[in-house]
Amino acid sequence: MAFESLSDRLQGAVQTMGKKGKITEGDLKEMMREVRLALLEADVNFKVVKDFVKRVNERALNSEVLQSLSPAQQVVKIVNDELTDLMGGEHVDIQYATTPPTVIMMAGLQGAGKTTTVGKLANFLKKNDHKKPLLVAGDIYRPAAINQLQTLGQQLDIPVFTLGDQVSPVEIAKQAVEHAKLQGYDLVFIDTAGRLQIDERLMTELKDIKVAVQPNEILLTVDSMTGQEAANVAKAFDEELDVTGVVLTKLDGDTRGGAALSIVSVTGKPIKFTGTGEKLTEIERFYPDRMSNRILG
Ligand code: GDP
Repeated sequence: MAFESLSDRLQGAVQTMGKKGKITEGDLKEMMREVRLALLEADVNFKVVKDFVKRVNERALNSEVLQSLSPAQQVVKIVNDELTDLMGGEHVDIQYATTPPTVIMMAGLQGAGKTTTVGKLANFLKKNDHKKPLLVAGDIYRPAAINQLQTLGQQLDIPVFTLGDQVSPVEIAKQAVEHAKLQGYDLVFIDTAGRLQIDERLMTELKDIKVAVQPNEILLTVDSMTGQEAANVAKAFDEELDVTGVVLTKLDGDTRGGAALSIVSVTGKPIKFTGTGEKLTEIERFYPDRMSNRILG
């Protein structure tokens, strides 16, 4: 299960305390030490952990809490609330354009799951929000990328717009949006090139596409298995592109959880969806409160 070890450790920390009728400041200190270690071990950004522990402490070290009838439960609730806030509080949905088509530009490093996510998300919104999506092959550098998207499109029965690999991605994106308008597609997904690391050429190209088509959403796919590094990558992309949200992929293989717990604090941008497996149906809307409940059991 995702977040297994974090979940075990946090549950251990709060359960020990939950058994006590009354709790002292010493008990609280002991628990917070465990919580802090659990978060650091989960590869959560150091500063995020520090602020988190400070906030929980401030709220818990309050005589109303400590002298209440169920202090332990109250402290558990505080930890739950703060975990929820750490992951963004409320679910933030896709912002559709008032005049279709809604243009969603996808960005991310190579291997993060960007192309797969384009397919998954288009299919999800087609099924759940009754949209008519068009996929756009904007990665002209990786030889297999166009084919990969076309195969995905066939599997999902969603059309793919391509102009081959000899036309610039900016031009492809512009023509794709025009094509969508003419053909009545109300949702356009632009797949873009990824690289193994962030470089200037990649960013310049993404910025040029952004300027050319003014997307309603710029969604960043990041691999949750890379822990707090995912938050660093997201921050770097966000500084250049001002993204509207994050899709956290491969949550199914992430036993630690550091990315999900760091990324919102580090970037200020919401996690909108999570990828939860290799199958094309394995994508979910992200609800911070549900995730927090799951972590704390
Ligand atoms: P891109 O280079 O960013 O376009 O990455 P791809 O879409 O080609 O995905 C890279 C690999 O990650 C593929 O093997 C995908 O099947 C896999 N992948 C993508 N999303 C998920 C996910 O949510 N869970 C798992 N387990 N694998 C995923």
